[in-house]
Amino acid sequence: MSRVVVVGSVNADLLTQVAVHPAPGETVLGRSMSVLAGGKGANQAVAAARLGAEVAFVGAVGDDSFAGQATAGLRAAGVDLSALATVPGPTGIALVTVSADGENSIVVISGANAAVAADTVSAHAATVAGADVVVLQGEIPRAATETAARLARGRVVLNLAPVIELSPDVVRGADPLVVNEHEARLALALVGGPDVPDDDHAAAARALTSAGVTSVVITLGSEGAVVATRSDDGEVATVPSPKVSAVDTTGAGDAFVGALASRLAAGDELLDAARLAARVGAYAVTGVGAQPSYPSSTDTLPEVR
Ligand code: ATP
Repeated sequence: MSRVVVVGSVNADLLTQVAVHPAPGETVLGRSMSVLAGGKGANQAVAAARLGAEVAFVGAVGDDSFAGQATAGLRAAGVDLSALATVPGPTGIALVTVSADGENSIVVISGANAAVAADTVSAHAATVAGADVVVLQGEIPRAATETAARLARGRVVLNLAPVIELSPDVVRGADPLVVNEHEARLALALVGGPDVPDDDHAAAARALTSAGVTSVVITLGSEGAVVATRSDDGEVATVPSPKVSAVDTTGAGDAFVGALASRLAAGDELLDAARLAARVGAYAVTGVGAQPSYPSSTDTLPEVR
C-alpha cells in the first residue's frame, strides 16, 4: 500500500462553553467541558487514514495525562505511532472557549510540539524517505519541518498553516503548497512574489507558481479551491465544493489536506485529488468537531451539482 507520513503537531483541545466570555479578572461558570483530539498534523493524519491510506505520524506528546486523549483519534484510525516521541512536560494543548454567540477565544500551549526538533525527524529518516507523500504544516519548529522536506523522496504536501518563516526552497518544492486565501498572500511574500489583488485567487495561485512553487492549491471555504501547477503555463483550475448546510467548519482545511494526501498517495492527478478533497472538506463541515466529523471510505460524500 502507498504510504503517507505526516510530520506535525498533535494536541488535546480542551473545549469549554460559556454564556459570555469572562472579562480580564472575572470568573464565569462554564456550561460544559470536553477534551477532543486535535492539532493540524494529527487531524490530517486521521483524515488520510480514515480514507484508506496507510499513515505514519512523526511528532511528540508530553508525559502528562493529556497524551492519551490527544492520540486517541490517531490510534482509532490505525495510524502508525512508532515514530511518536514522548518528551518531558505537557502535551500540546488548545484551551478553546466558545460563547453562546459562537465567538471563540483560544490559548495554545505548544508543549511537546515545540520540542519536535530536526533530530526528532532525522531519527526517523527512513520512514520519511520511504513515504509516497510527506505532509507538513506550520505548527512544529521550522527546523523539523525543513528537515522532513529535505529527507522526503516522495511528494511533499505543505500546508503552510499557520504561515511560518520557512526556507523559500522548501516552499517552492511543495507539490502542492496548500493554503487558504489569507495564507496565500503571506506565502507569496515568503517566496518573493508580487502583491496581488485580495479577491483574485487565480492571480495569487499563478503568482505562487511563477515564483517557483511546484504546484499550489488555495482553499476558499464554501467556494471550493483553485489549483495551479508550475508546468501548466499560468493555467488555473477551479474546483467547486458541494453545497452543504455547515454545522461546524472546525478542521475542514485539515480534512481537505488529509484527503488530498491520501488520493495523491493512491496515484491520483493533483486536480482529481483536489476534487475529492473538496467533497471531503464539505462532508467535514456537516459534523461537529474536527476528527469526529471526518468521513471513512464507506461514507457517502456530498456531490457537486
Ligand atoms: P479551517 O482553518 O477552518 O480548517 P481553512 O481556512 O484551512 O479552514 P477552508 O478553505 O475554509 O480551509 O476549507 C477547506 C475546504 O473545505 C474547502 O476548500 C471546501 O472544499 C470545504 N469547505 C469548507 N467550508 C465549507 C462550506 N461552508 N461548505 C462547503 N464546503 C466547505
